[in-house]
Amino acid sequence: MWPRAILHVDMDAFYASVEQRDRPELRGLPVIVGGSGRRGVVSSPSYEARRFGVKSAMPMWTAMKLCPHAIAVPPRMARYLEVSRDVMAIFGRFTPLVEPLSLDEAFLDITGTEALFGPPVSVAQQVQRAIRSDLSLSASVGLAATKYVAKVASDLQKPGGLVVVPPGEERAFLAPLALERLWGVGPKTAARLHALGFVTIGDVAAAYEPRAGAPRADLAHKLGGDALVEHIGALAVGEDPRPVEPEHTRKSLGSERTLERDIQGRARVQHELLPLVDDVAAQLRAERLRAGGVRLKIKYADFKRASRELHLEEPVLDAQSLLRGIEQLCDRIDLDRPIRLIGLAAIALVEDTAPLQSNLFAQAPTGRERAERLGRAVDAIKGKFGADAVVRASAKPRER
Ligand SMILES: [Mg+2]
Repeated sequence: MWPRAILHVDMDAFYASVEQRDRPELRGLPVIVGGSGRRGVVSSPSYEARRFGVKSAMPMWTAMKLCPHAIAVPPRMARYLEVSRDVMAIFGRFTPLVEPLSLDEAFLDITGTEALFGPPVSVAQQVQRAIRSDLSLSASVGLAATKYVAKVASDLQKPGGLVVVPPGEERAFLAPLALERLWGVGPKTAARLHALGFVTIGDVAAAYEPRAGAPRADLAHKLGGDALVEHIGALAVGEDPRPVEPEHTRKSLGSERTLERDIQGRARVQHELLPLVDDVAAQLRAERLRAGGVRLKIKYADFKRASRELHLEEPVLDAQSLLRGIEQLCDRIDLDRPIRLIGLAAIALVEDTAPLQSNLFAQAPTGRERAERLGRAVDAIKGKFGADAVVRASAKPRER
């Protein structure tokens, strides 16, 4: 009955739930995990805070206006990373085919695990129960035959939901949902689709699979891109053949962001890259890896992509060295067209075999060694006091 059975498991209000679990005095209260300061942003509101309209990515001051009695908690990334490992370990009990999307969500391919764990719906319930009983946390699950549908499904009945879309029912399931749920449809594309009279995913599906061939070309013309129409059209009719790709041996790790507004020009791109560089460097140190190279990835406003790679003279793990590599890549990629997404990856990863604490007085540290020590110290401070405790000087808000 299930040609493929894919779970998308998404932890509910992950950071906030970890805080409420670790600190019982916060339970039942509106908690907002997020950055402090004038430009702080909400990263995870508890469900008590969401009731007041507080959402992720909202400026902290807006959130505190909506919910003045909320308790603001600075993020403890090191702690969330630890708990994330426990979560992923639970997934690993059910299948080796686990593809993490972030610290708190993953795809699990459970096709053919019937003999061990029973039918797919039962596996989904067992995963939820294990997370509840072993970690005292809650997760929402989508079960479907494709990754995209499973991911949409997991989001529909949060928190603690289990939404099952049996094979063959993908298109009917998606049809009534808002077209904003299609991957790749940002505010601009959504506005264009609305202007064409489309509201639901079903509307897009109908235009993509017309009785006569003409309307699809028309749609492509109006949206300004064949690739985009192919992409969202296939999703809308429920097609998504991509396999779940486990990271047995991680070949890269990275960080990317879709920008609030399109940007253009090298200076602007480099400014936006700074937090990504710090994030990648922190991930390298947390996983005790070094990068033998870097990759810069750009998605332009028209959805065309470009990426460039560079191999470094020796494997590095500090932000300064990564940044030097990135600067060279910036010379080799067109940054003068409108850009909607930038991404950065550390590639050619190798184990970091350096001792955790080198003898400070054994020899005068090289510039690189100093940078690496500084990076480790910064991680330690962030682990203790929250991610906002240390901010790179050039990433501070510029005076206008
Ligand atoms: Mg989540």
